[in-house]
Amino acid sequence: MMEWDVRKPSLWARLLGVEGAIVESVEMDRSGVLVAQIRPPARERRRPRCPDCGRVCPRYDAGRERRWRALDLGFVRAFVEAHAPRVRCAEHGVRTAKVSWARHRSGFTRAFEDTVAWLVTQCSKSGVGELLRLGWRTVGRIIERVVAEADPAARLKNVRRIGIDEISYRKGHRYLTVVVDHDTGKLLWAANGHDEATLSKFFEMLGPEGCAQIELVSADAAAWIRNAVRRGCPEATLCMDPFHVVSWATKALDQVRRDVWNTARKAGQRASAKAVKGARYALWKNPDDLTLKQKATLAAISKTNRPLYRAYLLKEQLRQVFRLRGEAGKRLLDRWLAWAQRCRLKPFVKVGRSIKRMRTEIDAVLTHGLTNARVEGLNTRLRLITRRAFGFHSAEAIIALGLLSLGGLAPCLPGRSP
Ligand SMILES: [Zn+2]
Repeated sequence: MMEWDVRKPSLWARLLGVEGAIVESVEMDRSGVLVAQIRPPARERRRPRCPDCGRVCPRYDAGRERRWRALDLGFVRAFVEAHAPRVRCAEHGVRTAKVSWARHRSGFTRAFEDTVAWLVTQCSKSGVGELLRLGWRTVGRIIERVVAEADPAARLKNVRRIGIDEISYRKGHRYLTVVVDHDTGKLLWAANGHDEATLSKFFEMLGPEGCAQIELVSADAAAWIRNAVRRGCPEATLCMDPFHVVSWATKALDQVRRDVWNTARKAGQRASAKAVKGARYALWKNPDDLTLKQKATLAAISKTNRPLYRAYLLKEQLRQVFRLRGEAGKRLLDRWLAWAQRCRLKPFVKVGRSIKRMRTEIDAVLTHGLTNARVEGLNTRLRLITRRAFGFHSAEAIIALGLLSLGGLAPCLPGRSP
């Protein structure tokens, strides 16, 4: 056992990231782990507080000694230990008193947890685990605590235009409802579940004043979203997400491609079936992103396969509608609908019908000039995050990872200014 001189307790407090606490002794045990005995300053000991509400409460008992892991000091693992007295809160009952260096119910110091929360937004899963010697589930619990501390009211101030969507996790068995801010491109809120009751929680949190500020809501055609929006903020204009409309056309195009492929295959035209199958990505991609080879594939289709090429043009023209926006977009949409109706491609006739059904909401998005690029990009990143969050114990941990990465909630590294 090795004990160090603690003539400079404030220096030790700074090294351990527990500034504000008083370091009484520091020693290294046989396994090479550094353990510091600390205590809160006198004023905190005289006036202990409830960890839930922060109110000063009468002391209940001396509690027991507790240990928190701190950030490593160089190569050395470090812990701080302190007596944790208990208080009796009128509202919350008997609780371990609040300490300045750690969050409630945590076995890590605040500086340690903030480092974890910063790091998960910056590096790989295994990078975080190896560097900090943590299991992924523990990382999930830590970031949940960090995010729970953030004040949602501050995030939701001045929100005017929002997008609502659902994303699946756990291979499509479970869903999250997500709300994004069209103006900042940030993830505002997410919750486990995809139904009216789940989304209503968002409007409840926003409060009547916040709801009255919402001018515009974009979403897909789901009835549960519409119902919750109409009840939560009846004054807001509902828009159809262009992203979803275009995805109807992409799906229709894929259906046409499969039909054409099947017909060619059954007719024994192997070469032509193969060409259609190979064209999948060329048909999907935005024309600007096509490779030379893909351009050649499309040119060949335009000559040999009229129905499939027609389907491709229909998809592209629908994208063009949302790129044009405004009155020009609406006029193009009218022409598109007329074309879809007589195009003799069943999947597109169906898309035309769906668009007509949602025409008011689609016109609203064209009028308000809502671009979809931002939300679509955020959605893609969010999907990647849910995949990365695989292995967390709860949906709350996945949401925490989303809010840290895309909601601007990641704390600064301890000891640095923002
Ligand atoms: Zn309390």
